[in-house]
Amino acid sequence: MSENNASHVLAAPSLFARQLARATRAQGGIDLDALAGQVTSAYDELERSRRGTDDRNALISREFATLNANLERGVAELEAQNIRFGLALENMAQGLCVFDGAQRLIVCNKQFADIYGLKPEHVRPGTTFREIVAHRYAADSSPAMNQAEYLNWWERKRVSAVADETLVELRNGRVISIRDQPMPDGGWVATHDDIPERRTVEKRLAYMAHHDDLTGLANRVLLRQRLDEALTRARRGAAFAVLCVDLDHFKVVNDTLGHTMGDALLRAATVRMRQHLRDTDTLARLGSDEFAIVQCDMDQPVDATALAERLVRILAVPFDLDGQQAVIGASIGIAVTPGDGTDPDALLRNADRALTRAKADGRGCFRFFESGMDTVMQARRSLELDLRDAAARNAFHLHYQPLMSLRARRVGGFEALLRWNHPVRGNVPPAEFIPLAEEIGLITPIGAWVLHQACAQAATWPEGICVAVNISAVQFRGGALVETVASALRQSGLPACRLELEITESVMIENGEATLAMLRELRSTGVRIAMDDFGTGYSSLSSLRNFPFDKVKIDQSFVRELTDRPDCIAIVRAVTGICASLGMTTTAEGVETREQLAMLAAERCTDVQGYLFSRPCAAADLPDLLRTLHPAGPASPWPAP
Ligand code: C2E
Ligand code: MG
Ligand code: MG
Repeated sequence: MSENNASHVLAAPSLFARQLARATRAQGGIDLDALAGQVTSAYDELERSRRGTDDRNALISREFATLNANLERGVAELEAQNIRFGLALENMAQGLCVFDGAQRLIVCNKQFADIYGLKPEHVRPGTTFREIVAHRYAADSSPAMNQAEYLNWWERKRVSAVADETLVELRNGRVISIRDQPMPDGGWVATHDDIPERRTVEKRLAYMAHHDDLTGLANRVLLRQRLDEALTRARRGAAFAVLCVDLDHFKVVNDTLGHTMGDALLRAATVRMRQHLRDTDTLARLGSDEFAIVQCDMDQPVDATALAERLVRILAVPFDLDGQQAVIGASIGIAVTPGDGTDPDALLRNADRALTRAKADGRGCFRFFESGMDTVMQARRSLELDLRDAAARNAFHLHYQPLMSLRARRVGGFEALLRWNHPVRGNVPPAEFIPLAEEIGLITPIGAWVLHQACAQAATWPEGICVAVNISAVQFRGGALVETVASALRQSGLPACRLELEITESVMIENGEATLAMLRELRSTGVRIAMDDFGTGYSSLSSLRNFPFDKVKIDQSFVRELTDRPDCIAIVRAVTGICASLGMTTTAEGVETREQLAMLAAERCTDVQGYLFSRPCAAADLPDLLRTLHPAGPASPWPAP
């Protein structure tokens, strides 16, 4: 069949079918009626489908046309927006730059390039931040610090991802006000405002009046403003918290590593704290190592607790200051509205009281203000006055407790223990007044007196009997300790080998390299060094690695539970084993029973100290004590050999 015939068939199917039926009937062959019916319905089906395809095609082309129109409109809109954006960029008063998460320039305007003397080829999209900084250093439009310092500073700031405003003075004398806004992908947008000379002074004065110079944080003035604002909101029901944060051991770092490092530490601590604050919170620096935070519009006191926990944790992580490690920590006091105060002064005062409690409770922790704290503060102040008075009048005396050598079964020496008998308070326990004396710096003169007194006393004892003196971490500050020890030995005539200094591991943690140098110097004179209260801190083992102690005193908490807890035996065994292999002797503290003594002897402890042999007693009682214990008399509690 030709194509024409075919189209004819398609144009008149039922006619064709009928003709076909007639022709086949005439021939008396197959049932052409049925066949024609099938052909007709097949054709109808085909026709329906063709019409459907045409409809769909029409629909698609309509959609396509609409899309195309939209796209064209979109492109036109985008172009218009681009033009507007370009115009806005080029006509804004400030310089603007946008960097992506890979620190590559996305866009900047001409003003930005002009402020820093950068050529167009220096600010092509895709240029890295570091390359631009290098061009700025070449163009003398960099800040005063050197390039590496600047990049370090910038990196810390970038990682903190906090929006802020800073005033930067360039080497060429211009002052630029920079506002940074971090973006979620790690990039940032910054505006740079070249402050005209006449406005520079005004702007700087206004900035200085509200900011701390070192950290760029809010100062007391701005903090009070923020507190006032928060109090206004609080009247409408938005509770907020004030946190007073004090860096533990900051003064030690400042004294030992120098003020430049101290400043760097304050800046680094600021960066860490900011990472955990929201834009609505205010972080202010109140004094040397004191900070305050106003934490707004939160679920209080739950969120203040969460924030304080985080700050205590992150500030305890060692800081790396140009390769020098500094270990500090933080104590925090918290006051929450409305219960803890309804004006800025009351809130700050109460947060400060809670801070004092956190420090008294051992630092490295946080405390909420409680109404009873007032009384505690007053009691502390009164104790401080009495202690100062006692120090001025030299109202202390020493008691001595024997240190028993297990191997020789005799007295090896005595530990000098400070006593304060107050006319009204009675005997004040050292655990109460020594931490206070450390906090207010009185421990240095008191400690010097103890050294002189103990050496003078020991010089009267039989040869071979030593004296052990406790030295506080505070006495290592300022560097006078070596001379104090030398003068105590000189004046008493006691040989250096009969003096033992007991230090706790906090000494090693607080003072680092400077302490180690002093310990080495002391040891080189023949004085022995013992580590006291071993196992109570958190870096006992690393302390042992850092300095070759002569002796380790196992803390009495392990001895107390020795007979009930297998883990205590395991710890004692491990310590005596480590010490033996490091060439150190071991003294177990707080031995009160024969059972404990027998177990310690079995674990190869070399020396013991405790009420089982003697409580600390007055110097006058020592000759009697020596007679009973040295050499071991029949009544002495030594285990059978
Ligand atoms: P420490 O150096 O660990 O002294 C041992 C403490 O354990 C002494 O307490 C002693 O009396 C007590 N003790 C000894 N044997 C036993 C016992 O069998 N059972 C019990 N429960 N306790 C026992 P003390 O005299 O109250 O001194 C407490 C802490 O005060 C000392 O602990 C030391 O850290 C400090 N300290 C004492 N005198 C001075 C001093 O002159 N300078 C300095 N910086 N700290 C001192
Ligand atoms: Mg001691
Ligand atoms: Mg001890």
